[in-house]
This record gives sequence, structure tokens and C-alpha cells, in this order.
Amino acid sequence: MGKPYLKEEHEIFRKSFRKFLELNAAPYFEEWEQAKQVPKSFWKLAGEQGFLCPWADEKYGGYNADFAYSVVITEELDKIGAGIGGIGLHNDIVMPYIDEFGTEEQKQRWLPKAVSGDMISAIAMTEPGTGSDLAAIQTTARKAGNHYVVNGEKTFITNGYSTNFVIVVCKTDPNAQPAHKGVSLLVVEEGTPGFKKGKKLRKVGQHANDTSELIFEDAIVPQENLLGEEGMGFYYLMKKLQQERLMLAIGSLTGSKHMLEITLDYVKQRTAFGKPISKFQNTQFKMAEMATNIRIGETFVDRLIVDHMDKKNIVNEVAMAKWWMTDLAKRVAAECMQLHGGYGYMEEYEIARRYRDVAVGTIYAGTNEIMKQIIAKNMGL
Ligand SMILES: Cc1cc2nc3c(=O)[nH]c(=O)nc-3n(C[C@H](O)[C@H](O)[C@H](O)COP(=O)(O)OP(=O)(O)OC[C@H]3O[C@@H](n4cnc5c(N)ncnc54)[C@H](O)[C@@H]3O)c2cc1C
Repeated sequence: MGKPYLKEEHEIFRKSFRKFLELNAAPYFEEWEQAKQVPKSFWKLAGEQGFLCPWADEKYGGYNADFAYSVVITEELDKIGAGIGGIGLHNDIVMPYIDEFGTEEQKQRWLPKAVSGDMISAIAMTEPGTGSDLAAIQTTARKAGNHYVVNGEKTFITNGYSTNFVIVVCKTDPNAQPAHKGVSLLVVEEGTPGFKKGKKLRKVGQHANDTSELIFEDAIVPQENLLGEEGMGFYYLMKKLQQERLMLAIGSLTGSKHMLEITLDYVKQRTAFGKPISKFQNTQFKMAEMATNIRIGETFVDRLIVDHMDKKNIVNEVAMAKWWMTDLAKRVAAECMQLHGGYGYMEEYEIARRYRDVAVGTIYAGTNEIMKQIIAKNMGL
């Protein structure tokens, strides 16, 4: 079915990106899962071919591409595997902060290298002691002369191990009331004295995405690395979370469609009791239910993509899409694994990896409980 936001140029771009991934990502994906990291050489290659931050202005090396290109990139990355989602995070979650809130000097410093793949970015909100309650973060940035002294610890940071610079959510005023008014965003670069990366964390799934702890012990960060204004960090985050959560809904939708597709093939070729398992009414009903739910989700997500491109405030609807699509992806993964029988539990079958990979969707980018809290609040509850 045609998508209202996709034109011929997007489909041409899709074809070339898909070809690029088939050649440069798919054959190595398992290797990357073992290494718990996508190699920097792949980032560089993706940058050279125009697949990193294509939305950036031409003066920073981008193409001024519209959001539909980001949708295409997310979809094609997810078809290879959620484990290379760190690229989507760099493209559509982290770098837009630099683009929107950075000074010209900051943009010149980080955007061209993010577009070319010479630099990998990350964003660090979560800490060992707090995730959902962002205003309760403990990382501090104390002003001293012409720099900040940063102290604290971050965890679960995607691209954390590979990153060249990270947007750190910290408190420049730990005594501010309400607490969120003391939150600021500081860009901390690799090599900063006092900034250390922890080891790559061992996760249930999405192994190719590196996820790390970051440690700041009297880290000396130049004052010119402050993004936007002091005390405005929380507002910037709220503003940008719409796109982050929408990307996650799009990724979950793509993953669900892909799982249904591979299961469709499987049930047609696997036989039991002398016939393909696709001939059992239970199989047909399960497949029909999943196809229906996915189609309903797709209709909603397509609408939100159009609204997002029209710059509408759809924070509430995106919270709905985030919880609904990530929840659906988990259910689809479980049903598809069930239809694969014992083979579904074997690593040789893609559905096993997909099952592990989708589990985190309901947890990160704001848990689904937090999404429901946002929706309830908007209902006046
Ligand atoms: C693979 C992975 C990648 C990640 N990448 C990043 C990243 O790049 N950058 C980053 O900053 N973070 C990242 N995170 C962190 C992620 O965003 C947090 O894990 C998430 O926000 C939840 O925080 P928490 O883990 O502290 O859980 P908690 O906040 O401790 O929540 C625990 C449980 O309590 C529930 N809960 C909490 N508050 C409420 C409430 N008010 N009402 C009802 N229930 C509630 C939660 O929904 C959850 O079920 C990543 C996490 C993972 C697993």
C-alpha cells in the first residue's frame, strides 16, 4: 500500500541503501553480534555513501533530506536487525540536538564528522540509580573558571563504547526547585580528562549495539560544550523525545512485519500430520490476527509520520504508538516463535534473535508504563 510521505526519490534511495546493507552489513552481522559492536569502518562507509544524517544542511555535508529518508533508513536497518539501531540513534536522536540547540561553532565542530562517519555520537541520560525519573539524576557539572567539572556515572548508553562524543544530561544546579530546572546538556568528548568508558555490557539481545557505562570523575569539560542554555536541558529533552519515540514505533512496526513475513514462509514449508502447518486453522487465525494488528498499527504510525513532518505536537499520540507498537512486536515475536516450534528456539533461525531483540522495546526510550502515565496525564488524570 502506498505511503503518503514516500515519493519515488525515497524508494530509489531505499533501493540503494538496501543494496548497501546487503553487501556491507548482512554478511557480517553475526560477526558484529559476537564483537558486541558495529565496526567503525562500517560507520565510515555509511557516511561516505550519504547514509548518516542525510537531513543535515549541505554546508555540513548533508543533503537537507526530509524526515521520510530517516524513516526509510530506520526501516531498512531494522530489516537487517535491531542490533544496528545505534546508527539510527546517531542519525535521528542524538545529532538533531546538536542541529537544533548547538551554536554555529558547535555544529561546525561535530556535524560534518557525524555525517561523514568519522565521529559516532551518544546520549547519556540514564544512571545506575535512576532512569524513568530523569529529574532525579545525580551527575553534576560545576562551573569552575572557563570549564565545568563533571562528576557522576551513566549506564546503558547505546554507542557508549564507540562514541567520540556524548551529550551528557547533568545538573548544573543540583538545588534547583523544581529539580528539572537544574538540568543541562553538556557535550563530553572522547579524551576529556576524567571521562572514562566502562566495558561493553552483556545484554539479552541487540548484541551488535554496543551499550556501556560512562564514568565522570572530575572530568574537565570546556564551557563552550554547553548545548543551548543552562537549566534548559529538561525542556530540550522533552522536545526531542517525540522523534525518538516515533522512531522506535517505526522500528517496532518494521520488525513485526519482518517477523510475520519469515513466519509466513516457514508455516508454508513445515509439515505436520501430512500437511503444511499453514493449513491448520490455529495457524491461519494466529497469522490473520497478527496481520490485522500490524496493519492497524501501521495506519496509526503512518498518520503520525505525516503529522511529525508537518511539525505538529503529537507527544501524546507518539506515547500511544510507542507503547502499542513495542508491545505488539513482543507479542508477534512470541506467536511467531511458537509457530516455528522447536526450531524457533534455535539460534540458526532468525526468529530466535528477533525474539531477544524486541524485548527491550517496552523498556527503553521511556518505559511503556511511563508512556501510559503521559497519556493518563493528558486525560486530566
Ligand atoms: C539496551 C538499552 C539501551 C539503552 N540506551 C540508552 C541510551 O542510549 N541512553 C540513555 O540515557 N538510556 C538508555 N537506556 C536506558 C533506558 O532508557 C532506561 O532503562 C529506561 O528509561 C528505564 O529506566 P530504569 O532502567 O532505571 O528503570 P526504572 O525507572 O527503575 O523502572 C523500573 C520499573 O518501574 C516502573 N516505573 C518507574 N516509574 C514508574 C511510575 N512512575 N509509574 C509506574 N511504573 C513506574 C518502570 O516502568 C519499570 O517497569 C537503554 C536501556 C537499554 C536496556
